[in-house]
Amino acid sequence: MNYCKLFLKPKKEESLLRFHPWVFSGAIETIEGNPREGDLVEIYGTNNRFLAVGHYQIGSIAVRILSFRQEKIDAGFWTNKLKAAYTLRKALGLAGRVDNNTFRLVHGEGDNLPGLIIDMYAHTAVMQAHSVGMHYARHELVEALKEAMGDELKNVYYKSETTLPYKAELNSENGYLYGGDVEDVAIENGLKFYVDWQKGQKTGFFVDQRENRSLLEYYAKGRSVLNMFCYTGGFSFYAMRGGAEVVHSVDSSAKAIALTNKNVELNYPGDSRHTAYAEDAFKYLDKMGENYDLIVLDPPAFAKHKNVLRNALQGYRKLNAIAFEKIRPGGILFTFSCSQVVNKENFRLAVFSAAAQSKRNVRILHQLTQPADHPVNIYHPEGEYLKGLVLYVE
Ligand code: SAH
Repeated sequence: MNYCKLFLKPKKEESLLRFHPWVFSGAIETIEGNPREGDLVEIYGTNNRFLAVGHYQIGSIAVRILSFRQEKIDAGFWTNKLKAAYTLRKALGLAGRVDNNTFRLVHGEGDNLPGLIIDMYAHTAVMQAHSVGMHYARHELVEALKEAMGDELKNVYYKSETTLPYKAELNSENGYLYGGDVEDVAIENGLKFYVDWQKGQKTGFFVDQRENRSLLEYYAKGRSVLNMFCYTGGFSFYAMRGGAEVVHSVDSSAKAIALTNKNVELNYPGDSRHTAYAEDAFKYLDKMGENYDLIVLDPPAFAKHKNVLRNALQGYRKLNAIAFEKIRPGGILFTFSCSQVVNKENFRLAVFSAAAQSKRNVRILHQLTQPADHPVNIYHPEGEYLKGLVLYVE
């Protein structure tokens, strides 16, 4: 099959020559043929010079690049890419461990597969397409995944209902594309979790906080911990293993709180140190006392688009200000932002304003980010989305 060709406007090839994996719609001069959304297309620059091949989509990002070489995107291509992703996770010491079977196998642009996310929970891959092209490729991807992972793979759950562009009218349904007889307990650094990929948020678990949870464990001994925006309780069990005296988990979702309680039971049955509350964060923070000396703030992305950035930064400032006001002297605050459009400097500025407002003496102990199984493609700095600060509050 021949791919349709897209020709860029003069001077618009710069970013592709620097291997940035997106073509914006405004950069396109002409399109030869009539590509459907999700089709593979070839990109050409000045003097008909071949630049790249990728998935075409209607919207501001018109093409997501799969290769900068003129090659066919076929079964062999997908297998090679997935093998490379798996090899990296093995090299990182994440795959094939007894005490850890939870990791991100494919992180979109970070694995040169824009539009595709795959998280592994034991022998189950949860696959998410964020582009129409990856949706069309889903069956080929499953075959490639089987080839790349062999016996390690027993199930593939496809979960793209909410991540695909709504206007594409793909009628995508969540469900198993392979297997389906599933154990739903995953292990992260020796701790057990129920993962509900069918009804839970994202792929069912926030795999990106693994290392930051470990760091929290290190600081937890003897402390009173508040895990705000706990989701299924990730930070809480690490705090308990680290020897916290009290752990309170809060999330506005009752379902998340139910899973948090189940997960505590799984790891620390009958342990009275832990209590979970289904409540709004701001309400809880307003009325809580000043007893905590280790607080985690891991809110959902406050800004999903650039035009709401100001409001988002206000949100981060307000949230952190309450924590600074109420944390006990000598307390430690773990504060995060996972909004892609909020950069490191902006986030730090929002937290800085909050600290100043509280007039407390605050020092930065650690600057955190996403772990190595969420790699950042050096040509796509936008891929660095998770930011965290660990602060010592006198
Ligand atoms: N820290 C978690 C991930 C947090 S995701 C982990 O390690 O797994 C963000 C969470 O914030 C979601 O579970 C969502 O239900 C919750 N949330 C969103 N709005 C909230 C609000 N206003 N108050 C409390 N929780 C909220």
